[in-house]
Amino acid sequence: MKKLVKKIGVITSGGDAPGMNAAIRSVVRTCAFYNVTCVGFNRGYAGIIEGDYQIMDARSVRGIINKGGTILKTARSKAFRTVEGRKKANQKLQEIGIDSLVVIGGDGSFTGALILNQEFNFPVMGIPGTIDNDIFGTTHTIGYDTALNTVVEVIDKIRDTASSHNRLFFVEVMGRDVGHIALNAGVAGGAEEILIPEEDLGLDRLLESLKRSKKSGRSSSIVVVSEGDKIGKNVFELKDYVEKNMTEYEVRVSVLGHMQRGGSPSCFDRVLASRMGVKAVESLLDGKTNYMVGLKNDIIQLTPLNQAIKGKSEINMELLRVSDIMTT
Ligand code: ATP
Repeated sequence: MKKLVKKIGVITSGGDAPGMNAAIRSVVRTCAFYNVTCVGFNRGYAGIIEGDYQIMDARSVRGIINKGGTILKTARSKAFRTVEGRKKANQKLQEIGIDSLVVIGGDGSFTGALILNQEFNFPVMGIPGTIDNDIFGTTHTIGYDTALNTVVEVIDKIRDTASSHNRLFFVEVMGRDVGHIALNAGVAGGAEEILIPEEDLGLDRLLESLKRSKKSGRSSSIVVVSEGDKIGKNVFELKDYVEKNMTEYEVRVSVLGHMQRGGSPSCFDRVLASRMGVKAVESLLDGKTNYMVGLKNDIIQLTPLNQAIKGKSEINMELLRVSDIMTT
Protein backbone atom coordinates (compact mmCIF):
# COMPACT_ATOMS: atom_id res chain seq x y z
CA MET A 1 0.00 0.00 0.00
CA LYS A 2 1.20 3.51 -0.79
CA LYS A 3 2.37 5.48 2.22
CA LEU A 4 0.55 8.80 2.56
CA VAL A 5 2.96 11.67 1.83
CA LYS A 6 2.30 14.66 4.07
CA LYS A 7 5.60 16.51 4.23
CA ILE A 8 8.07 16.94 1.37
CA GLY A 9 11.56 18.37 1.74
CA VAL A 10 13.36 20.25 -1.02
CA ILE A 11 17.02 21.20 -1.52
CA THR A 12 19.19 22.77 -4.19
CA SER A 13 22.61 21.13 -4.30
CA GLY A 14 25.90 21.28 -6.23
CA GLY A 15 26.51 24.13 -8.67
CA ASP A 16 23.82 26.81 -8.89
CA ALA A 17 21.90 27.29 -12.11
CA PRO A 18 19.42 29.92 -13.28
CA GLY A 19 15.91 28.51 -12.96
CA MET A 20 16.52 26.74 -9.65
CA ASN A 21 14.26 29.32 -8.01
CA ALA A 22 11.53 28.60 -10.53
CA ALA A 23 11.88 24.90 -9.66
CA ILE A 24 11.68 25.60 -5.91
CA ARG A 25 8.60 27.73 -6.53
CA SER A 26 6.99 24.96 -8.51
CA VAL A 27 7.72 22.31 -5.87
CA VAL A 28 6.38 24.56 -3.09
CA ARG A 29 3.23 25.55 -4.96
CA THR A 30 2.49 21.99 -6.08
CA CYS A 31 2.78 20.88 -2.44
CA ALA A 32 0.39 23.69 -1.45
CA PHE A 33 -2.00 22.64 -4.21
CA TYR A 34 -2.16 19.10 -2.77
CA ASN A 35 -2.22 20.26 0.88
CA VAL A 36 1.20 18.80 1.55
CA THR A 37 3.64 20.67 3.82
CA CYS A 38 6.83 21.73 2.04
CA VAL A 39 10.08 22.16 3.96
CA GLY A 40 12.98 23.99 2.30
CA PHE A 41 16.45 23.10 3.59
CA ASN A 42 19.20 25.66 3.17
CA ARG A 43 22.59 24.88 1.56
CA GLY A 44 21.75 21.44 0.17
CA TYR A 45 22.66 18.36 2.16
CA ALA A 46 24.57 20.50 4.68
CA GLY A 47 21.30 22.16 5.70
CA ILE A 48 19.62 18.79 6.24
CA ILE A 49 22.47 17.56 8.46
CA GLU A 50 22.40 20.79 10.48
CA GLY A 51 18.61 21.04 10.63
CA ASP A 52 18.70 24.41 8.86
CA TYR A 53 15.25 24.71 7.28
CA GLN A 54 11.98 26.59 7.00
CA ILE A 55 8.41 25.62 6.21
CA MET A 56 7.49 27.09 2.82
CA ASP A 57 3.96 28.05 1.87
CA ALA A 58 2.74 29.22 -1.52
CA ARG A 59 3.38 32.89 -0.70
CA SER A 60 6.94 32.26 0.50
CA VAL A 61 8.06 31.82 -3.12
CA ARG A 62 6.46 34.92 -4.61
CA GLY A 63 8.61 37.09 -6.85
CA ILE A 64 11.36 34.53 -7.39
CA ILE A 65 10.49 32.98 -10.76
CA ASN A 66 12.60 35.61 -12.56
CA LYS A 67 15.55 35.52 -10.14
CA GLY A 68 18.85 33.77 -10.85
CA GLY A 69 20.66 31.70 -8.20
CA THR A 70 18.70 29.88 -5.51
CA ILE A 71 16.93 31.33 -2.46
CA LEU A 72 17.66 28.07 -0.61
CA LYS A 73 21.40 28.52 -1.32
CA THR A 74 23.42 25.58 -2.48
CA ALA A 75 26.53 23.87 -1.20
CA ARG A 76 28.85 20.94 -1.68
CA SER A 77 28.60 19.00 1.58
CA LYS A 78 31.63 16.88 2.47
CA ALA A 79 29.85 15.46 5.51
CA PHE A 80 27.09 13.97 3.37
CA ARG A 81 29.67 11.90 1.52
CA THR A 82 30.28 9.98 4.77
CA VAL A 83 28.00 7.34 6.33
CA GLU A 84 28.01 9.36 9.57
CA GLY A 85 26.85 12.47 7.76
CA ARG A 86 24.06 10.64 5.97
CA LYS A 87 22.98 9.01 9.26
CA LYS A 88 22.63 12.48 10.75
CA ALA A 89 20.73 13.68 7.70
CA ASN A 90 18.31 10.75 7.94
CA GLN A 91 17.81 11.39 11.67
CA LYS A 92 16.98 15.04 11.00
CA LEU A 93 14.57 14.13 8.21
CA GLN A 94 12.80 11.68 10.56
CA GLU A 95 12.71 14.20 13.43
CA ILE A 96 11.09 16.83 11.21
CA GLY A 97 8.71 14.24 9.80
CA ILE A 98 9.77 14.53 6.16
CA ASP A 99 8.31 11.73 4.03
CA SER A 100 10.15 12.38 0.77
CA LEU A 101 12.91 14.59 -0.59
CA VAL A 102 13.16 16.53 -3.85
CA VAL A 103 16.77 17.16 -4.88
CA ILE A 104 17.42 19.89 -7.45
CA GLY A 105 20.99 19.52 -8.72
CA GLY A 106 23.39 17.56 -10.89
CA ASP A 107 24.55 13.95 -11.01
CA GLY A 108 26.61 14.28 -7.81
CA SER A 109 23.54 15.41 -5.92
CA PHE A 110 21.55 12.54 -7.42
CA THR A 111 24.24 10.05 -6.36
CA GLY A 112 23.90 11.35 -2.80
CA ALA A 113 20.11 11.01 -3.00
CA LEU A 114 20.31 7.45 -4.29
CA ILE A 115 22.71 6.43 -1.51
CA LEU A 116 20.39 8.00 1.06
CA ASN A 117 17.60 5.88 -0.37
CA GLN A 118 19.67 2.70 -0.43
CA GLU A 119 20.88 3.14 3.17
CA PHE A 120 17.66 4.34 4.81
CA ASN A 121 14.95 3.54 2.29
CA PHE A 122 14.22 7.26 2.10
CA PRO A 123 12.04 8.26 -0.91
CA VAL A 124 13.84 10.69 -3.24
CA MET A 125 13.12 12.45 -6.55
CA GLY A 126 15.64 14.36 -8.68
CA ILE A 127 15.16 17.51 -10.74
CA PRO A 128 18.10 18.21 -13.08
CA GLY A 129 19.44 21.71 -12.41
CA THR A 130 22.85 22.40 -13.93
CA ILE A 131 24.00 24.67 -16.75
CA ASP A 132 26.19 22.01 -18.41
CA ASN A 133 23.24 19.90 -19.62
CA ASP A 134 25.33 16.83 -18.81
CA ILE A 135 22.56 14.60 -17.48
CA PHE A 136 21.21 11.49 -19.18
CA GLY A 137 17.41 11.20 -19.39
CA THR A 138 16.59 14.78 -20.31
CA THR A 139 17.28 16.81 -23.41
CA HIS A 140 17.49 19.94 -21.25
CA THR A 141 18.56 20.58 -17.69
CA ILE A 142 17.31 23.67 -15.85
CA GLY A 143 19.73 26.55 -16.44
CA TYR A 144 21.23 25.31 -19.68
CA ASP A 145 19.10 27.45 -21.99
CA THR A 146 19.78 30.59 -19.96
CA ALA A 147 23.52 29.89 -19.91
CA LEU A 148 23.48 29.38 -23.68
CA ASN A 149 21.78 32.72 -24.22
CA THR A 150 24.27 34.43 -21.92
CA VAL A 151 27.20 32.93 -23.82
CA VAL A 152 25.81 33.86 -27.23
CA GLU A 153 25.24 37.44 -26.09
CA VAL A 154 28.86 37.67 -24.96
CA ILE A 155 30.20 36.08 -28.18
CA ASP A 156 28.27 38.71 -30.17
CA LYS A 157 29.98 41.42 -28.15
CA ILE A 158 33.40 39.84 -28.52
CA ARG A 159 32.78 39.63 -32.26
CA ASP A 160 32.40 43.44 -32.40
CA THR A 161 35.79 44.04 -30.88
CA ALA A 162 37.43 41.11 -32.71
CA SER A 163 36.42 42.41 -36.14
CA SER A 164 37.41 45.98 -35.29
CA HIS A 165 40.96 44.86 -34.53
CA ASN A 166 41.31 41.93 -36.89
CA ARG A 167 41.80 39.63 -33.96
CA LEU A 168 41.38 35.99 -33.18
CA PHE A 169 39.59 35.24 -29.91
CA PHE A 170 39.56 32.02 -27.95
CA VAL A 171 36.42 32.05 -25.84
CA GLU A 172 36.38 29.44 -23.08
CA VAL A 173 32.97 28.31 -21.90
CA MET A 174 31.83 25.85 -19.22
CA GLY A 175 31.45 22.13 -19.98
CA ARG A 176 34.08 19.89 -18.44
CA ASP A 177 32.67 16.59 -19.65
CA VAL A 178 30.28 17.54 -22.42
CA GLY A 179 30.43 20.21 -25.08
CA HIS A 180 26.75 21.17 -25.29
CA ILE A 181 27.32 24.82 -24.41
CA ALA A 182 30.34 25.21 -26.71
CA LEU A 183 28.70 23.47 -29.63
CA ASN A 184 25.36 25.28 -29.50
CA ALA A 185 26.70 28.70 -28.58
CA GLY A 186 29.46 28.27 -31.16
CA VAL A 187 26.97 27.59 -33.96
CA ALA A 188 24.68 30.42 -32.78
CA GLY A 189 27.60 32.85 -32.44
CA GLY A 190 29.09 31.98 -35.84
CA ALA A 191 32.33 30.60 -34.40
CA GLU A 192 35.03 29.58 -36.89
CA GLU A 193 35.93 26.57 -34.79
CA ILE A 194 34.42 24.80 -31.81
CA LEU A 195 36.57 22.65 -29.53
CA ILE A 196 34.66 20.16 -27.42
CA PRO A 197 35.61 17.18 -25.21
CA GLU A 198 33.77 14.72 -27.49
CA GLU A 199 35.93 15.45 -30.51
CA ASP A 200 39.69 15.43 -30.86
CA LEU A 201 40.27 18.07 -33.51
CA GLY A 202 44.03 18.24 -33.10
CA LEU A 203 46.21 21.33 -33.33
CA ASP A 204 47.09 20.84 -36.99
CA ARG A 205 43.47 20.86 -38.06
CA LEU A 206 42.82 23.90 -35.93
CA LEU A 207 45.63 25.80 -37.64
CA GLU A 208 44.51 24.63 -41.05
CA SER A 209 40.99 25.76 -40.38
CA LEU A 210 42.11 29.17 -39.11
CA LYS A 211 44.34 29.65 -42.14
CA ARG A 212 41.45 28.76 -44.42
CA SER A 213 39.26 31.22 -42.59
CA LYS A 214 41.87 33.97 -42.93
CA LYS A 215 42.31 33.26 -46.65
CA SER A 216 38.57 33.44 -47.22
CA GLY A 217 38.72 37.08 -46.20
CA ARG A 218 37.29 36.99 -42.68
CA SER A 219 38.28 39.99 -40.61
CA SER A 220 37.91 38.21 -37.27
CA SER A 221 37.82 34.70 -35.93
CA ILE A 222 36.23 33.27 -32.84
CA VAL A 223 37.06 29.83 -31.52
CA VAL A 224 34.76 28.58 -28.79
CA VAL A 225 36.53 26.18 -26.44
CA SER A 226 34.83 23.93 -23.92
CA GLU A 227 36.84 23.90 -20.68
CA GLY A 228 37.27 20.13 -21.04
CA ASP A 229 38.30 20.01 -24.70
CA LYS A 230 40.37 17.08 -25.95
CA ILE A 231 43.30 19.00 -27.43
CA GLY A 232 44.45 19.03 -23.84
CA LYS A 233 45.81 22.57 -23.80
CA ASN A 234 44.18 25.35 -21.88
CA VAL A 235 43.07 28.43 -23.79
CA PHE A 236 46.23 30.36 -22.92
CA GLU A 237 48.44 27.60 -24.30
CA LEU A 238 46.27 27.54 -27.42
CA LYS A 239 46.77 31.29 -27.78
CA ASP A 240 50.57 30.91 -27.54
CA TYR A 241 50.56 28.06 -30.03
CA VAL A 242 48.49 29.91 -32.62
CA GLU A 243 50.44 33.15 -32.19
CA LYS A 244 53.66 31.26 -32.80
CA ASN A 245 52.32 29.57 -35.91
CA MET A 246 50.16 32.31 -37.36
CA THR A 247 51.96 35.58 -36.84
CA GLU A 248 49.37 37.41 -38.93
CA TYR A 249 46.87 37.06 -36.09
CA GLU A 250 46.69 39.02 -32.88
CA VAL A 251 45.22 36.51 -30.45
CA ARG A 252 43.16 37.23 -27.34
CA VAL A 253 41.57 35.00 -24.75
CA SER A 254 38.28 35.43 -22.94
CA VAL A 255 37.37 33.00 -20.16
CA LEU A 256 33.69 33.49 -19.45
CA GLY A 257 33.67 31.70 -16.09
CA HIS A 258 30.97 32.17 -13.49
CA MET A 259 29.00 34.80 -15.38
CA GLN A 260 27.54 31.81 -17.26
CA ARG A 261 25.74 30.72 -14.11
CA GLY A 262 24.11 34.06 -13.40
CA GLY A 263 21.22 36.09 -14.68
CA SER A 264 17.48 35.94 -14.89
CA PRO A 265 16.31 32.55 -16.22
CA SER A 266 15.04 32.42 -19.81
CA CYS A 267 11.39 31.77 -20.59
CA PHE A 268 12.33 28.21 -21.56
CA ASP A 269 14.02 27.51 -18.22
CA ARG A 270 11.15 29.00 -16.22
CA VAL A 271 8.59 26.85 -18.03
CA LEU A 272 10.80 23.76 -17.82
CA ALA A 273 11.38 24.25 -14.09
CA SER A 274 7.66 24.77 -13.49
CA ARG A 275 6.78 21.58 -15.35
CA MET A 276 9.49 19.53 -13.65
CA GLY A 277 8.51 20.70 -10.15
CA VAL A 278 4.89 19.64 -10.68
CA LYS A 279 5.92 16.23 -12.03
CA ALA A 280 8.41 15.65 -9.19
CA VAL A 281 5.85 16.28 -6.44
CA GLU A 282 3.03 14.43 -8.18
CA SER A 283 5.31 11.41 -8.71
CA LEU A 284 6.24 11.32 -5.02
CA LEU A 285 2.57 11.59 -4.06
CA ASP A 286 2.00 8.70 -6.41
CA GLY A 287 4.44 6.60 -4.37
CA LYS A 288 7.29 6.74 -6.86
CA THR A 289 10.87 7.05 -5.66
CA ASN A 290 14.45 7.00 -7.06
CA TYR A 291 13.56 8.77 -10.28
CA MET A 292 14.64 11.93 -12.03
CA VAL A 293 12.15 14.03 -13.93
CA GLY A 294 13.34 14.95 -17.41
CA LEU A 295 12.23 16.38 -20.73
CA LYS A 296 11.97 13.89 -23.60
CA ASN A 297 10.13 14.65 -26.85
CA ASP A 298 8.65 17.69 -25.10
CA ILE A 299 7.02 15.49 -22.47
CA ILE A 300 8.11 15.44 -18.83
CA GLN A 301 9.01 11.83 -18.11
CA LEU A 302 10.70 9.84 -15.37
CA THR A 303 14.11 8.16 -15.66
CA PRO A 304 15.40 5.88 -12.89
CA LEU A 305 18.00 7.83 -10.89
CA ASN A 306 20.67 5.16 -11.36
CA GLN A 307 20.31 5.45 -15.13
CA ALA A 308 20.38 9.24 -14.98
CA ILE A 309 23.64 9.03 -13.03
CA LYS A 310 25.34 6.34 -15.10
CA GLY A 311 24.08 7.32 -18.55
CA LYS A 312 25.93 9.71 -20.80
CA SER A 313 24.41 12.85 -22.22
CA GLU A 314 25.29 12.77 -25.93
CA ILE A 315 25.93 15.81 -28.07
CA ASN A 316 23.95 16.26 -31.24
CA MET A 317 26.14 14.87 -34.03
CA GLU A 318 24.01 16.58 -36.65
CA LEU A 319 24.92 19.89 -35.06
CA LEU A 320 28.62 19.05 -35.43
CA ARG A 321 28.05 18.58 -39.15
CA VAL A 322 26.08 21.83 -39.38
CA SER A 323 28.89 23.59 -37.59
CA ASP A 324 31.45 22.20 -40.08
CA ILE A 325 29.37 23.33 -43.03
CA MET A 326 28.80 26.80 -41.56
CA THR A 327 32.53 27.38 -41.19
CA THR A 328 33.31 26.75 -44.87
P1 ATP B 1 27.08 20.19 -10.74
O1 ATP B 1 26.81 19.31 -11.95
O2 ATP B 1 26.54 21.55 -10.93
O3 ATP B 1 28.49 20.14 -10.27
P2 ATP B 1 26.41 18.19 -8.78
O4 ATP B 1 25.13 17.85 -8.12
O5 ATP B 1 26.99 17.15 -9.70
O6 ATP B 1 26.19 19.58 -9.54
P3 ATP B 1 28.46 17.71 -6.77
O7 ATP B 1 29.36 18.67 -6.08
O8 ATP B 1 29.08 16.60 -7.52
O9 ATP B 1 27.50 18.60 -7.68
O10 ATP B 1 27.48 17.06 -5.67
C1 ATP B 1 26.74 17.87 -4.79
C2 ATP B 1 26.68 17.25 -3.43
O11 ATP B 1 26.05 15.96 -3.51
C3 ATP B 1 28.05 16.97 -2.81
O12 ATP B 1 28.59 18.08 -2.17
C4 ATP B 1 27.69 15.89 -1.79
O13 ATP B 1 27.11 16.44 -0.64
C5 ATP B 1 26.63 15.09 -2.54
N1 ATP B 1 27.29 13.95 -3.20
C6 ATP B 1 27.92 13.93 -4.39
N2 ATP B 1 28.46 12.70 -4.63
C7 ATP B 1 28.16 11.95 -3.56
C8 ATP B 1 28.44 10.61 -3.17
N3 ATP B 1 29.14 9.78 -3.96
N4 ATP B 1 27.99 10.17 -1.98
C9 ATP B 1 27.26 10.99 -1.18
N5 ATP B 1 26.98 12.26 -1.47
C10 ATP B 1 27.41 12.74 -2.63
